Amino acid sequence: MSEMNGIVTQVAQISPIMKIIKIKPLGWELPEFKPGQFCALALPASAERCASATEEPKKLAPDKMIKRAYSIASSTASTDELEFYITLVHSGALTPRIFNLEVGDKIEIGKRFVGMFTLDSIDSEQNIILIATGTGVAPYMSMLRTDALSRKGKITVIHGAANSWDLGYSSELRLLESLTGKLTYIPTITEPDKEPVEWKGETKFIQDLWTDGTIEKKMGYKPTAENTHVFICGNPNMIDTMQGLLEKEGFVKHKPKTPGQIHIESF
Ligand SMILES: Cc1cc2nc3c(=O)[nH]c(=O)nc-3n(C[C@H](O)[C@H](O)[C@H](O)COP(=O)(O)OP(=O)(O)OC[C@H]3O[C@@H](n4cnc5c(N)ncnc54)[C@H](O)[C@@H]3O)c2cc1C
Repeated sequence: MSEMNGIVTQVAQISPIMKIIKIKPLGWELPEFKPGQFCALALPASAERCASATEEPKKLAPDKMIKRAYSIASSTASTDELEFYITLVHSGALTPRIFNLEVGDKIEIGKRFVGMFTLDSIDSEQNIILIATGTGVAPYMSMLRTDALSRKGKITVIHGAANSWDLGYSSELRLLESLTGKLTYIPTITEPDKEPVEWKGETKFIQDLWTDGTIEKKMGYKPTAENTHVFICGNPNMIDTMQGLLEKEGFVKHKPKTPGQIHIESF
């Protein structure tokens, strides 16, 4: 088994299937990274799965390291601790093992911090729309906690989830919205009937809020390919639908050789 180079320093349960986990490197320095990038986390197959996990489809050798990519949610200024926002996939290989970790348990952090899902090549005057479902909001937290709010253009976060308790970071996003006056935060939930207290916010799918004009009205401007870059992260269906809608409006998918205004990170 390879050496485990990280230690869990905080575990916060956000919903039955979502946790925010903080990890510190053990005896090494974190590399520099850009807000929006990701790294790998890994555990050996011998690590125990959490109680709510379903049976593993495939039996793995105990010393096999199971490795997956996770977006970093912490600021790049946080040089001694990383934060991650993770969804439990009950039948998954790694997340049931991550969900069994407690403070003080060890985990392996991949030493390559990479990814193109960043704001650094985008002119500061451009408006930015950050769209996420579920834990897809993680890379945006790193951007907002680092320096995104010092940009000149407007910033909007649109976060979709099933229920209000799945909207991780909502308190922080509301606070940033009211303190800075620079951020528009639009949370939307799709199962309002399950709320214990009446939900007064949006209840449509993100794509429907886009087409019916709600998002434009809340942002106070018309997003176009000339004035706005759109980031989309999370559920592949939402990503595909939003990409299709944006392309009809003249936005183009960003690629390293052909720059565009649609930036995608698919979990
Ligand atoms: C660049 C990048 C960044 C990522 N960042 C994050 C992050 O910040 N937080 C996070 O929670 N995940 C993130 N992911 C997803 C993560 O890498 C794993 O795929 C996920 O945690 C499932 O791992 P697993 O080993 O438990 O399941 P696996 O054994 O790999 O997968 C089991 C099955 O579950 C499906 N599945 C995978 N993810 C989900 C999901 N979220 N919901 C439902 N079904 C799913 C897969 O399609 C697969 O069929 C990221 C992925 C990429 C590529």
